[in-house]
Amino acid sequence: MTVQVHGGEGRELQVFVTLEGEEPWTVSQRGVDDLESRSKEWIRLGIQRLFQKSYQLTPSPWGTLTGVRPTKLAHSLYDDGMSWPQISRTLQELYGLNPEKTELLLDIAQGQRVFFHPSPNDPIGIYLGIPFCPTRCSYCSFAAYPLTTHGHLFRDFLAGLKREIKAIGALIHELDLQVESVYLGGGTPTTLMGSDLQEILDLLREQVFTAATVEFTVEAGRPETLSLETLQILKDTGVERISINPQTMHDETLQAIGREHTVADVHRAFWAARRVGIPIINMDIILGLPGEELGHVEHTLQEIARLGPDNLTVHSLSLKRAARLSKEALNIAHGQGEAMVHMARDVAFDLGMKPYYLYRQRQILGGLENIGYALPQLSSIYNVQMMEERQTIIALGGGGITKLVAPDLSLVRQANPKCPAGYSQQIKEGLSEKVEQIRRHFTAGK
Ligand code: SF4
Repeated sequence: MTVQVHGGEGRELQVFVTLEGEEPWTVSQRGVDDLESRSKEWIRLGIQRLFQKSYQLTPSPWGTLTGVRPTKLAHSLYDDGMSWPQISRTLQELYGLNPEKTELLLDIAQGQRVFFHPSPNDPIGIYLGIPFCPTRCSYCSFAAYPLTTHGHLFRDFLAGLKREIKAIGALIHELDLQVESVYLGGGTPTTLMGSDLQEILDLLREQVFTAATVEFTVEAGRPETLSLETLQILKDTGVERISINPQTMHDETLQAIGREHTVADVHRAFWAARRVGIPIINMDIILGLPGEELGHVEHTLQEIARLGPDNLTVHSLSLKRAARLSKEALNIAHGQGEAMVHMARDVAFDLGMKPYYLYRQRQILGGLENIGYALPQLSSIYNVQMMEERQTIIALGGGGITKLVAPDLSLVRQANPKCPAGYSQQIKEGLSEKVEQIRRHFTAGK
């Protein structure tokens, strides 16, 4: 392969990419402001196009974009002064996105702008990770330890968590920070039950809630953890959003992927949450689960439409290193991935929802994406802020990753151990250092 770049005179740029035995891929344009970065993107696109042609590869709908957060590119182009139509052209001509993904990306990015604040540090978000689950799903790559094998670490974990909440709460008050959203994820936060759950939620309200707090979410996740008592505690403590995640509405698949609940459990948990009066219910599904074809997804979506959640998050199956499923699982429904995505989109639209956040993963079914849909005014602020990385999020608990965002949107990450034992140890030895680093972030330049 040879690559030639000519640029300079009159800001004209020409790029030639040649693969032996193939017609060269060429592009030329006048009036290019940033010759270096544009030539890099065109070389990338040229190489991709030639390889696709030469090896008859299916073109990626996302062109040369491989990152997890493609919306960040649209936002950064907009911040640089481009109009939305110019961004649309750039995404297609320079990055090779197909028109459908371009439209999706722009639709989501435009809708997200209302959530952005002038400063990434006012207000901030709080995440709290509970790294326990009833069992471990075969596709899981999160901080998730089955209670059956790791339940003996639970008490120490909880003691550490309370210390961390109090330490971060004290810092929030000392620095007079404002907190916009509080999100409990994991793992499965509703593995906490009864007085343990009540105590953690009360502590959060007392320590980290501020006058600016407008969203309180608990990702309940596994429906079998949602007893009436748990739902009532969530409601009474002011939790406004929960997730009840079926992933599929087929019992055989649920069994096969290691989730020990049934479709009936999903229905029971959903209606119980509605009766108790939790205002917003999200449901997560995964497209391309092993053994599932288009007909399975259609049935799952019909069942979900009958329930009528307020948010629907549609994941395309993706496998990270920590997952037990093998990569071959991604091939099973590979050819049907796009059709499944379309089917899910149509059902979400029929339910009156719009896409409001999006992310991609490596090793994802058909090179596709994950999309969060929501009814009007019911999008999760936390999901947008976490995905777009324009707000500092302080993460507590197992596997939480704090992101300290500077005014120029550069990031410093700070990770809590995923393992409950490692977490408890870190709280004993490293909590003051964590607090100090966060304090330095907020007081820099003052
Ligand atoms: S419920 Fe979620 S976090 Fe828990 S094991 Fe399954 S995929 Fe992982």
